[in-house]
Amino acid sequence: MKRLTAAAGLAAVLFISATACVPVKDPSPHSAALEPDPNRYIPHSLTTEPPAPAPSAVWHPPAGPGSPGVLPVKPSASPAAKPPSAWTRKTLKIPFPKSSPSAPSKSAVRKPALPVQKLQQAEQRQQAAERKLTLSEIHHKYPSVFRLRGPSRGGKIALTFDDGPDLKFTPQILDILREHRVKATFFVIGSRAKAHPELIRRMVREGHVVGNHSFSHPYLPKLSEDKFAAQIMDTQHILKPLTGYNPKLIRPPYGAISEDQVKWVANHQLLIVNWDVDSLDWKGLASHEVIQNVQGHAHAGSVILQHSAGGTEKHNLSGTVEALPQLIRHFKGEGYKLVTIPELLQTTKGK
Ligand SMILES: [Zn+2]
Repeated sequence: MKRLTAAAGLAAVLFISATACVPVKDPSPHSAALEPDPNRYIPHSLTTEPPAPAPSAVWHPPAGPGSPGVLPVKPSASPAAKPPSAWTRKTLKIPFPKSSPSAPSKSAVRKPALPVQKLQQAEQRQQAAERKLTLSEIHHKYPSVFRLRGPSRGGKIALTFDDGPDLKFTPQILDILREHRVKATFFVIGSRAKAHPELIRRMVREGHVVGNHSFSHPYLPKLSEDKFAAQIMDTQHILKPLTGYNPKLIRPPYGAISEDQVKWVANHQLLIVNWDVDSLDWKGLASHEVIQNVQGHAHAGSVILQHSAGGTEKHNLSGTVEALPQLIRHFKGEGYKLVTIPELLQTTKGK
């Protein structure tokens, strides 16, 4: 029974992980490695394939030491292996080979298509290309395009809310922010913005900043460049008329993005903004747990991740809604200034 309960619990965790906006590992990072690579040079084929049968009428050098399958070698110098002389051939009417037996014909020697050194270099290049940088490595390699937090000077903290808008939690969060006169940043999903444009307009009207959180919340690193670009640009086209600007800020679902996609973002003058403090509110935590996760890790310059909508209807974000007034009071009481991402990072909301 205990085992069954544990299994059910694990299944629930996996289910939640699959739908919530948290950094996750590539679901199958090694799947590509399991598939045979048609371009991979396999030197063993030279020793495992049987030699091609030679026409019986044509003399061929005897196999060298070892199995018949080993690489062709120089004809043996032993008397038994000595080829027939020209006189014997003429006398016994043995056909002459097309080339000298001392230099085996090209067809008898199996060579790789390329010199081994080149193949090894090609293989090394392929391995280097296949190795993907971790998110941490990408962040360190592209610090100006991939941000996690802001500078600590100025005592500023940015509240961010992902996955909205929805009709249940987003309006409640907007009400609390308005009541406490706090401006925040909402990373919204394009398809949801399209469904609830009035909430995007309200965010803008009340001084919040809107960022792009993809169109349908996929795991971006698995997408082709075209599909990735469509996720971003389709959302931009929905948000532009609602916000009045082309959102500059991108937050990839689960915080996950590939190096090539980061380059794409940079080429389009956009900015990736993840977070350094995760409330873990998507787990359906109680308000005191959300408060503990946020207050326990936030400091000047922090970007705090919370959600304004669930991944599914079943997600309960009441903990976030209940925690928010207390978090705002706490940070204000500590002397922090709660600001939008553009203010924290000293950048623009549009490009
Ligand atoms: Zn998300």
